[in-house]
Amino acid sequence: MKHELLDILACPIDKHYPLKLFVISENWEEAVTKEGEKIKWIEISTGVLFCEKCNRWFPIVEGIPIMLPDELRQKEEDLQFLSKYSEYLPKEIVEKGKPWSLSDK
Ligand SMILES: [Zn+2]
Repeated sequence: MKHELLDILACPIDKHYPLKLFVISENWEEAVTKEGEKIKWIEISTGVLFCEKCNRWFPIVEGIPIMLPDELRQKEEDLQFLSKYSEYLPKEIVEKGKPWSLSDK
């Protein structure tokens, strides 16, 4: 995901934006334009978007932000994600985030 995209992402629950970004890993991406020019940019491959209004967090997996309403989220998968990356994320997400956090395990 490119950084500019963050400006248009809003919380699906309350439409709050901008969301707070926590980057877990980034990748250099490379492409060649039609003119033969090589361009490089950084993509966030893993991270979390956090809504400060409702305290919900949304995972970014393989460069794709997963912005689902609560009823479509997979609690087990979400908790696995949080456990795996808990050292990179603040307590407000890991322990107090919505719709669930590691305190709900
Ligand atoms: Zn929200």
